[in-house]
Amino acid sequence: MKLSVDFSALFASAKKMGDPIENDFVLDTPREPWEDKLGSEGIELEDINELESMDGLLSYRGRQVLLYIQDHGSRVQEALVAPDEAGKKYHIAECRTLHKMRNEGRFERYVITNDISGEFEISGHDYMTGHPVEGRTRLRICKNCLTYLNYQGYSKPGNYSAFNNFDLDEFFQTYSSFFTHLPQRKMGEADGYTADWPEISRAFRQEKAYTCEKCGILLSDHPRLLHVHHVNGVKSDNRKSNLRAFCADCHSKEAFHKSMYVSHADRQTISRLRHEQQFQKPDNWQEVISLADSGLRGFIERCRSGCLPVPEVGLDLQDDKEEVKGMLELAWPLQRLGIAIDERDKLHAERLGWKVFKVHEALDNFTTFMTRL
Ligand SMILES: [Zn+2]
Ligand SMILES: [Zn+2]
Ligand SMILES: [Zn+2]
Repeated sequence: MKLSVDFSALFASAKKMGDPIENDFVLDTPREPWEDKLGSEGIELEDINELESMDGLLSYRGRQVLLYIQDHGSRVQEALVAPDEAGKKYHIAECRTLHKMRNEGRFERYVITNDISGEFEISGHDYMTGHPVEGRTRLRICKNCLTYLNYQGYSKPGNYSAFNNFDLDEFFQTYSSFFTHLPQRKMGEADGYTADWPEISRAFRQEKAYTCEKCGILLSDHPRLLHVHHVNGVKSDNRKSNLRAFCADCHSKEAFHKSMYVSHADRQTISRLRHEQQFQKPDNWQEVISLADSGLRGFIERCRSGCLPVPEVGLDLQDDKEEVKGMLELAWPLQRLGIAIDERDKLHAERLGWKVFKVHEALDNFTTFMTRL
């Protein structure tokens, strides 16, 4: 028997009661076969226009994906041995190259995947005999994609590290707010934790009074959003000196952190609480970076190089009845100018008389954006 339950009345009454402890629960939808395919060998597109764009990032049915071209023709053997030179670059954003491909309607075997291993199945033929050749290789990221997103400040002259150290896991994690579906956890990811970890983690957070050791946010009403981090990365090393209590937002911004996907709703909750708890408004760009959603980083870096005034982070939008109607990720209240990630937030703000850009719109029309400040 299939049960279908309407939770709306429950949600409404929970809202009236205020914020009950641990009210954050996620209703997960069952995994479909095409999703498994997307995470493994990938899905071949009939037409490049099946690929959608989500704020300038590549998307397929609400999932973040990357796109690559499987067919390497007569260069396949070279690409298998020296992928840096002969391999075709893979794409993560609506870059110039991808635009060209869309416009020219070229026929290639476009494959999309959200496998983050960085290894790709490529094919082609032997240039002497014409025999088919196949194999796996490590392709590199398209530089136009990095430029388009200003990923990790890539557009800054001399910044090679965004390309040289590009990591797909880190990339998907950076933009987890932009997609409604977070990538499925890979098998074995929970490995390394000791059996008593839930108890140790609970006791440690209690000892820290449910406060983030980095930004200072108090999360006693949302203990799920306070994580316990292992400083040396060894998940079984539970000495107190190796543990830190970090909110989900600060935790995800720890350098080289893997598979820390934080949903947009969770980030907004943290932003909202920081405001309620009277956090100081940021007065420099470094503080903006530490407080803002990680997907805004490229845009923030561009604002910083343009010497623009520092915005507020996570501004709640209230109507005249002082009801919260949404949130601007970045806001310049004097100019009534803001940046939103969620389309609904953008619409709410515009109804209240704000001029709002989505991140990719602001990046695409940066000069127009700048002249409003
Ligand atoms: Zn590209
Ligand atoms: Zn924090
Ligand atoms: Zn950690």
